[in-house]
Formats: sequence, structure tokens, C-alpha cells
Amino acid sequence: MADVPANLEALLRECHVPALLPALVHMTGDADFWLRPEWRPVYEPLTKGDTAIPDDAQAEICRLAAVAIREHLAGKPLAMPNPPIDVLRRQMDFVAGESIPEQYTDFLVDELALKGESTKDPKATHHLPREGARKLKVLVVGAGMSGILTGIRLAEAGVPFEIVDKNPDVGGTWFENTYPGCRVDNSNHMYSYSFEPSHDWPQHYSPQPVLLKYFRGVVDKYDLRRKIRFETMVETLAWDDARSVWRATLKSRDGRSEVVEANAVVTAVGQLNRPRFPDIEGRETFAGPSFHSAEWRHDVDLKGKRVAVIGTGASAYQFVPEIAPDVAHLTVFQRNPPWGLPVAHYHEDVPPGMKWTLEHVPFYDKWYRFWLFWSTTEGFLPNVKADPTWNGPPSTIGPENAELRETAVAALEAQLTDRPDLVDKVIPSYPIGGKRAVLDNGVWLAALKRPNVSLVTDKVVRITPMGVVTADGTEHAADVLIYGTGFQASNFLSFLKVKGRGGRDLHESWGGDARAYLGLTHPGFPNLFTIYGPNTNIVVNGSIIFFSECAVRYIVGALKLLAETGAVAMEPKQAVYDDFNRRVDEANAGWAWGSPNVSSWYKNQFGRVSQNWPYGLIDYWRATLAPNPDDFALERAKETA
Ligand code: NAP
Repeated sequence: MADVPANLEALLRECHVPALLPALVHMTGDADFWLRPEWRPVYEPLTKGDTAIPDDAQAEICRLAAVAIREHLAGKPLAMPNPPIDVLRRQMDFVAGESIPEQYTDFLVDELALKGESTKDPKATHHLPREGARKLKVLVVGAGMSGILTGIRLAEAGVPFEIVDKNPDVGGTWFENTYPGCRVDNSNHMYSYSFEPSHDWPQHYSPQPVLLKYFRGVVDKYDLRRKIRFETMVETLAWDDARSVWRATLKSRDGRSEVVEANAVVTAVGQLNRPRFPDIEGRETFAGPSFHSAEWRHDVDLKGKRVAVIGTGASAYQFVPEIAPDVAHLTVFQRNPPWGLPVAHYHEDVPPGMKWTLEHVPFYDKWYRFWLFWSTTEGFLPNVKADPTWNGPPSTIGPENAELRETAVAALEAQLTDRPDLVDKVIPSYPIGGKRAVLDNGVWLAALKRPNVSLVTDKVVRITPMGVVTADGTEHAADVLIYGTGFQASNFLSFLKVKGRGGRDLHESWGGDARAYLGLTHPGFPNLFTIYGPNTNIVVNGSIIFFSECAVRYIVGALKLLAETGAVAMEPKQAVYDDFNRRVDEANAGWAWGSPNVSSWYKNQFGRVSQNWPYGLIDYWRATLAPNPDDFALERAKETA
């Protein structure tokens, strides 16, 4: 039994009270008592919700909660560990502060996983026959968040596998990005595997070393390291039509090549790991050190230097405030400003009371995660949906979007009362949701306002040995040049040559316009599964771990289909793939990121949104519950004479 802290009421005040109330229903069984209409939170857009219940009411709730929690910790059993669905629905609506439409119920019950069971755990849904599982061998490319997850699920399914990664350690993006200030921009209580929650995140949005430690810890817990070949590139994949296996050429760092075979290949290589350097004249002539944010040169001391930064996306937004105090002068070159949405606790520690409650109050962790999930995913999406009847300015796409813009603009302007000259420069002209929004706790504009920082919005036309020249002819002198210019996100699998049936080349078949069925499968490329593939990214809504968990469930379902039917290969039917992609393109036009006046890395060279999922999370969840056998052509094993 946990020691009950003497200051329990004070500790409870530090947690998210709207999520505490449904947790107390499990404890006492009295939904009417805890879910009172006068305590129901009303969230203002972009608030954390803690202010949603008046202060005196919060004090009263915490006093009453402390009594119930003390009784429980003294041995009183939970009155309602598994509420009936009508109570569960009341709990959901309460914490969300709105009536959640009925069609979300099964999806959200699954997400809540109150009994610890979820369809996202394929053990529950896709049990592979042991013999069939053993006959499969899977090659997983990448040991980042998705590759680790794939390894865990394949091990649980009894499928032999090997993971290969180019890096010397696990973690993917969390291993590679070490720039100052790098941290997650989804709350960690949601940005973590659903089956491996941590109650001990030091901050709501933890820094990169914490994330790397989390993923390393998961790898160790599941004993995956021995299944990973590090510092090895997969260079080619070729489907052997006669034997129905993939042949993969691996090249290790010391130059050794090896060919391995696998029945299926899962790529788990992320979308954001090939740095993109801008095509600016004279780039190679710069005399001083220059590097990309994802390849940070920790050996370059920036103290007292004149530093130029090109780009103001999510990466620059994090490292600029960190380096600004140290450098002699910082020139930030901005093409388009990012949308900053106010999140005051972005850099704050998780208070001890919240950690204690997450750990000791049954179901509080579930309801807190649930609230984060709803409020930042399906609950937020209407804000970035285009209204075809909208007559507002092109910087907005609908009434909710316009209202959100007003709130965000007011928050930015409030920070610039002393620097009106910056207002026009930092308020974007494109709609919120057009690009990835960043979380604003004031440090970005505080950095731009520093006397040693200049924000330059003139077009960069040339780089010289001495600095950066803008269209007005000014040469901005710099000792160090840092590119915060993002990644070659549309060039899916650019490092990998893939030859499918009949030697068909994947990249040629894409013609620079990568597509997939559900982001995962490709006609002509049997048993190839691409996690976080085309059209599976999200702009504003949620954590990409959710998508990976859905994708891996689907992949295990596909392996089950092979194992159960005795088929040796499966690939989506061309008509299914074509129809899916047509619908995706149509749907993407209905969101801020598909808006014609937005240019971003979500669109490829043809202007097609090749990155983003154009529906709700519920739709990806449903579509990936299990592969529909009718969507696939299954190839039976060839008869041997
Ligand atoms: P990014 O969002 O693509 O930003 C690139 C920046 O470089 C943009 O400001 C872009 O301007 C600018 N740029 C590109 N070419 C330019 C040129 N020729 N001249 C001037 N400016 C140029 O890249 P990122 O900041 O590395 O972020 C990429 C993605 O990684 C994010 O969207 C996010 O998904 C992820 N990320 C996440 C986190 C996190 O979770 N905390 C942190 C970092 C990154 P335009 O806007 O005009 O194109």
C-alpha cells in the first residue's frame, strides 16, 4: 500500500482536475457525485483546461477526492473498475467538456483501454498459428519508434525477425536530432507507447535525451537489442518471383555487404531523416562552419560568434532561443513565419502532485491521456477543416479556423506591445493548420526581441564566403551558418532501391509522387509494408505513435492472413489502391494543409499532399483494424514437382 502523503489535497491541486473526476467514479462508483454539471469543464480554445473549473470548486473537489483516495489506499476496493457503457460515456463527455458523438464510442473505449486491452495490441486480435508464424521471417528497416514497436509485436506473435539500422543505437529521430532545445511537441503522457506509459516524465514535453532514454529503456525491457544489426544500411530490396521472398543487400559501416532473405519487409524509417539543404547559389562557398539542425556540430562553439540561421520551422523554433543568449549576433532568415499556439507549460516540469496522482490514483493516468488524446486529436480537427461555403479572408478556411486565428493572433500581439515592428513579420498569412504549428510559451518572440538578434524577411538570394545576401543587396555577415530547413520528406525511401514483381522499380512506379494503400502496401511489391508511408502524417492532431501502433497491428494482421491461408505473398489490388488514393486526394483538399495558398513540405513537387492523412484518427484506426482479404491478391505457394 502506498504511503499517503500528508499534503494530499495540495498534491491533487497539481493534477488536471477534470481528469481526476472520472477517475474517482471508479473508486466510489458514484458518477452523479463526481460528474456534477457545475464541475463540468468548459474549455476555451488553446487552454490547458486547468482553469476550466473555478478555483474554489477545484479546492472542494480536491478535499473530497482526498477523502476517497485515503479510504482506497487504506484498503477499500474500487467500486466500479469496469463501468457500464452509459457511465463510461458520461465520463468521456465530462472530461472532454462536450458531448462526444456516438460514432466515436468504440474507438475511444479502445483508446482508453481501461482493462488494459486494446485492439492496438495485436496479441488480443491477431493470434498467429504457431507453425505458420515460425515459417515467416521479417526484415525490419529502422530501429526508431516504429521499428522498436514492430520488433515487440513480431516477437509477441512468434514471428522470426531482424531489425537493421544505419545508426549505432536505437531511437531514430530521437537519436539523430541533438540540437539545443530539441524536445517533443506532443505531451509525453500521450507521446509514448499506449502499452508502455510512464508516470515519471520529468516535463510535459520532455527534451530529446529523455525521449532517447525512454526508447532505450523499452528496447532493453523487451530484450530487443540482440535482434538489431546496427550501423548497417539496407541498400537494395529485390523480390524473387520464383521463391516469393525478398532479397535484401545490407552494407555495414566497415564496407561489408551481405544478402539476407525475408518473407516480408517492414520499413520503419520515418519521414523526417534526410536533411534538406536549400538550393541557394553559393552554398558551398561559405567559409565558416555550416551544418543542418539534424546534424548539429557540437564541436562548433557558437559563443561570441555571428551566427546565421536559415529557416523558422519547428527545429529552428526550438534551437534559436537556446543559442541566442550565447552568440554575438544571430540573424534569423525567415521565409514564412510558423504559427505559434499558446502553450504556457511547454517547458514546465510535471509537478510532483501530478506524478503522484498518475502513479497512485487508479485510472487517473488513463483519463489524463484520454483528455490529451481527445482535445488534441479529433476534438481539435474542426479548427482546421475547410468550409466550402466560407467567404472569409484567404488566411482562414472556415469559422472555427477564423476564431482560432483571432485567439492565436491576440496571444502573439500581447507579446509584442514593445516591438510593434515585429507584428507583421511574425503573424502568418496562411491559415492555422496549413503547416505544423509550434507551441508558444513566449521564448521564441523573446529571442527575436533580443538586441543581438535580427529577424530578416527579405528573400535569401546568395550565400558568400562571408555570409548571406538578401534580395535588397545586403550581405549579412556570419561566422557560422545553420540550416533549419527541414527534410526531404516527400522522397519516401529515397535511400533504398526496391525492385518488386518482374523487376518493377518502386521509385519509377511512383514517378516522384509516392503513394501507398493506407500508407502501408503497394501493388506489385508483395509483402512490403511501409510504416509512416505516404499519406499517414498528421499536421495538428495527435501523436504519430498512434499511427504506428495502428499500422503494426495491421501488419501483424497481414502476417496472420499469410500464415492462416498458407499464401506466400499478398499485395493490394490495383483498383483498391487507385480508389483509395483518389479519395485521399479529394479529402486532403478539405483541410488547411491542402489549401491552395499553402506551400509546405506536406506537398510534393507536383503540389499533391503526399504526406498527410486527410481524415480523423478514428478512420485510420478503423481502416487498420485488420486487412480486408478482398483488398488483396493472395499468391499461393507454387506446386513443387
Ligand atoms: P520545416 O518545418 O520544414 O522548416 C523548414 C524551414 O526552412 C521553414 O521555415 C522553411 O520556410 C525554411 N526554408 C526552407 N528552404 C528555405 C529557403 N530556400 N530559404 C529560406 N527558408 C527556407 O523543418 P523543421 O523545422 O526541421 O521541421 C520539420 C518537421 O519535423 C516538423 O514539421 C515536425 O513535424 C518535425 N519536428 C518536430 C519537432 C518536435 O516534435 N518537437 C521538432 C522539430 C521538428 P517555409 O515555411 O517558407 O517553407
